[in-house]
Amino acid sequence: NRRVILKRYVTGFPSEDDMEVVTGTARLAVPAGSTAVVLKNLYVSCDPYMRGRMTKHEDPTYVPDFVPGEVLTAFGVSKVVASGHPGFAVGDLVWGMTGWEEYTLVPNPALFFKINHPEIPLSYYTGVLGMPGMTAYVGLFHVAKPKKGEYVFVSAASGAVGQIVGQLAKLTGCYVVGSAGSDEKVNLLKAKFGFDEAFNYKKEADLNAALKRYFPEGIDIYFENVGGAMLDAVLLNMRLRGRIPVCGLISQYNLEQPEGPRNLACVITKRLRMEGFIVTDHFGEYHKFEEEMAGYLKEGKITYIEDVAVGLEKAPAALIGLYTGRNVGKQLVKVANE
Ligand code: NDP
Repeated sequence: NRRVILKRYVTGFPSEDDMEVVTGTARLAVPAGSTAVVLKNLYVSCDPYMRGRMTKHEDPTYVPDFVPGEVLTAFGVSKVVASGHPGFAVGDLVWGMTGWEEYTLVPNPALFFKINHPEIPLSYYTGVLGMPGMTAYVGLFHVAKPKKGEYVFVSAASGAVGQIVGQLAKLTGCYVVGSAGSDEKVNLLKAKFGFDEAFNYKKEADLNAALKRYFPEGIDIYFENVGGAMLDAVLLNMRLRGRIPVCGLISQYNLEQPEGPRNLACVITKRLRMEGFIVTDHFGEYHKFEEEMAGYLKEGKITYIEDVAVGLEKAPAALIGLYTGRNVGKQLVKVANE
């Protein structure tokens, strides 16, 4: 059983060397009398929040810290190869929190979702049909509540969450602009995902001026993925009573001293609403989301790009690439053929 373990807790920017691929023995049978399942992992996800789990926290956060020497856990798509649980049969395809390893014994699979659309590429269940897709949906529709004709800005817009946010906002009839960190990504946003405009934030010396260029009348909804300097510039450009679903702050995850925002006074003067959310709080409505999103994909109303690293040994580099923008689209790792 090849697996990726955390070698040590991380401070600052993570490196591949903070993780290690090791080989052990797989347990392929469930303990007698238990309700465990054994999963063969097909695809595992690389997600930005995993960096937070590499730090030792004094007080518990919303997700447990990783433990040095132990396998990294992450969302993934798997096949049940042994089951003591009445709700899961050998051969079932599922997604949920599994391990960065070939086989995972899950003592209680109750939190796994069965995959209802195996005709769609299974890897999509790490992204558009899984946690990141649902993040886009929840942040946009439950938190921001867009109306037709509103001005929407999305940062990290070509990524797993951002590409779906932009397309859902377009389906709602909004004017949508995205920012991304390369010209290739900017082209994708406009040519593939149908954003009205997009810009490369790395080429803008003055983010405030860039936003004024794309939003002369201001921003109604900012889907926040990055934080830092971008959030500060956005605050200056929000319209009265704008909404900011705070999804993530990736520009801050590797900093020992977080930066900003310095323009929080805009929240008062413009009567803004900023609201953080965690997608897992909304997993109760997952299957409703799955049906809606599967429909959009089949009708061609939503398109989707993923960046697939092949083989578990590629997983550490793939994860670290999220923090430099190396990924183009949703980053995941293919572990095995079905
Ligand atoms: P992405 O697929 O967008 O990958 C991360 C991207 O972030 C990179 O490709 C890069 O794109 C951008 N980035 C990296 N470093 C920086 C930086 N210093 N400044 C600005 N941009 C940077 O990731 P996801 O779509 O999976 O996640 C997007 C955000 O959503 C993250 O903040 C994540 O933590 C958050 N999230 C929150 C959830 C919740 O429940 N609240 C659930 C899931 C995700 P570029 O080249 O454009 O810079």
